[in-house]
Amino acid sequence: MDCINDQRRLARRAFLLSSGAVLVCLPLSVRVSHAQDAKKVDMNSQLAKSLNYHHDAKQVKDPKRQEGQFCHNCQLFQSEKKTGWGPCTLFSGGLVAAEGWCNAWVKKV
Ligand code: SF4
Repeated sequence: MDCINDQRRLARRAFLLSSGAVLVCLPLSVRVSHAQDAKKVDMNSQLAKSLNYHHDAKQVKDPKRQEGQFCHNCQLFQSEKKTGWGPCTLFSGGLVAAEGWCNAWVKKV
């Protein structure tokens, strides 16, 4: 009898642990899938052109760009990465290149 109770207790514990794991992991997986769904900003889009955005800041021919200005050190860049891609608040979460630039650049504080 004790053995059956122990098995039920273990089964209940396993169920509760797995349920808890699902509840913890579900929001994380939704967040990851949102990040994966984000698309790179199209440099030919109207907004990108109006901001003179380029994926490679060194290719920009804009007198406003100062040496050392990149998306990764812009206040509007929503990532801590210095390479690769990250969201920018100006592009509604669209991904901009960490080494990109546009004329709305604001020094990260
Ligand atoms: Fe890059 Fe900043 Fe322009 Fe966004 S606002 S594209 S992060 S320079």
